[in-house]
Amino acid sequence: MTKVKWDGEICKKCKREQRLGWAVSDELWFIITDNYSGILCLECFLELAHQLGYIIKIEYFTFLDTNTF
Ligand SMILES: [Zn+2]
Repeated sequence: MTKVKWDGEICKKCKREQRLGWAVSDELWFIITDNYSGILCLECFLELAHQLGYIIKIEYFTFLDTNTF
């Protein structure tokens, strides 16, 4: 498993710092975010999915690393 360096990013929607690096498939990202090119935190992503009526499961995610402040 490749270790990905993760320094944290700011969610463009709620402006909170997200400390957990995560990813979903390009296909799922495209569907949920309308191919948004910025950073979204997990909460905002799930909120968008909920608004669209999608059930998001834990196995859809790849967790990359966490930022330890
Ligand atoms: Zn957010």
